[in-house]
Amino acid sequence: MQTQPTASHYIDGAYADDSEGAAFDSLYPYTGAPIATLHDATPAIIDAAIAAAARTQMEWAALPGVERGRVLRRAADILRAQNRELSELETYDTGKPLQETLVADAASGADALEYFGGIASSIGGEHVQLGDDFFYTRREPLGVCVGIGAWNYPIQIACWKAAPALACGNAMVFKPSERTPLSALKLAEILTEAGAPPGLFNVVQGRGSVGAALIEDPRVAKVSLTGSVPTGRKVYASAAEGMRHVTMELGGKSPILIFDDADLEAAVGGAINGNFYSSGQICSNGTRVFVQTDMKEPFLDRLTERLGGVVMGDPMDEATNFGPMTTGRQMQIVLDYIETAQAEGARLVTGGKRADRDGWFIEPTVFADVTDDMTIAREEIFGPVMSVLSFKTEEEAIARANDTAFGLSAGVFTRDLARGHRIAGTLQAGTCWINTYNLTPVEMPFGGVKMSGLGRENSREAIAHWSQVKSVYVGAGTVEAPF
Ligand code: NAD
Repeated sequence: MQTQPTASHYIDGAYADDSEGAAFDSLYPYTGAPIATLHDATPAIIDAAIAAAARTQMEWAALPGVERGRVLRRAADILRAQNRELSELETYDTGKPLQETLVADAASGADALEYFGGIASSIGGEHVQLGDDFFYTRREPLGVCVGIGAWNYPIQIACWKAAPALACGNAMVFKPSERTPLSALKLAEILTEAGAPPGLFNVVQGRGSVGAALIEDPRVAKVSLTGSVPTGRKVYASAAEGMRHVTMELGGKSPILIFDDADLEAAVGGAINGNFYSSGQICSNGTRVFVQTDMKEPFLDRLTERLGGVVMGDPMDEATNFGPMTTGRQMQIVLDYIETAQAEGARLVTGGKRADRDGWFIEPTVFADVTDDMTIAREEIFGPVMSVLSFKTEEEAIARANDTAFGLSAGVFTRDLARGHRIAGTLQAGTCWINTYNLTPVEMPFGGVKMSGLGRENSREAIAHWSQVKSVYVGAGTVEAPF
């Protein structure tokens, strides 16, 4: 497969490059071999991308919503038609097994394009009568928006930002993570093929400094970041300088509460999905698994048994269900956390080391007897490390689950549905799952509270974050004035 793109950036409907920008490689996590060399965007590239977006945005916004939506829906169809090659490219860039990328990446991006393509024509305001006078509201685009992505779900993140942004009449400059730069370029090509005007969706590459430069440009109205809390703080502060809108999709340390009455298979399955899918590199993962006392041993036994089903290996082999870490650096970060956990007295149940093979693989790792103050129970690890903690009462579990600076997601497994809803009402999280975990359909709002972020992606909620309201008051009588 050809992984080297035509050029680093995509601006004004065509590939562009500037070799003055520092070169960087994208590496295949299974072998560590370079699969593409790109350049950081220079100031000239950044300027060209923002200028193209600014030029196109007003024309795009002036189109009827149904026409904007048609472009997005065509793009969804093209993404689906190219799903296999897009999935292979994503597997090369991220190391995630093809078994996953075939169903969870471009496919999820296509859902977002289809969904927001479908509602583009019904985005509108309200009319309120005030006697003979009245006012109405218009839901207007923000203008040029910047999207900045993380490396775990590159094309999904690009689509989750681009689809609602473009549906609302904005134009976008997107900067993928420098670790996984390739698939956003394909999305740009696909949008062009689907009929998007040149300049509507531009891609610029580079490290954090390129993202920082984009946000500082006075022509930019909004930034939507998917990334870590430390980066979120910087981006939010920079956006505040220019009073720009923000969406912050940041990290998490989410709890899963498993009660004694839970369906054991469902609870174990939820904990596996919430810790080991994408080798644990998922923001919403439920990495603090609180298990009620009587359920603890059965849970650990069944979990250990089911971990026997892990197939670690060549990510391109569709039988592989567990891939390497996306970067060598992330592998080292996770190994350091595992060492800290052991030093702090957590009991290693399974895994705990780099796999004895090529590639940046870490064995699926489970720690039991974890306490709330341990580093692995407090910090986001972003790798295949599950912490199992035990609890006695519902009140205790809720208090401990909420005792974190993060608030992205949470899960509860119980056959007592009244309890499930009660707990969902008290957990401090943007999403709570009852008797399942990590399902994120496009119809459902997704985002965080507390340090996990601001704003919502997906669903009708996203429209509010990619548009602004203008009120238009219409007087029908004489104008009364004091003099
Ligand atoms: P990161 O914060 O290191 O980088 C994210 C992006 O921000 C990259 O494109 C990076 O180049 C850019 N960036 C870095 N510094 C910047 C700056 N000063 N100004 C502007 N841009 C800058 O995150 P990562 O390591 O790529 O991704 C992992 C993190 O992302 C985890 O914390 C994970 O939880 C989070 N994440 C959140 C969600 C969500 O939807 N909530 C989804 C996926 C990942």
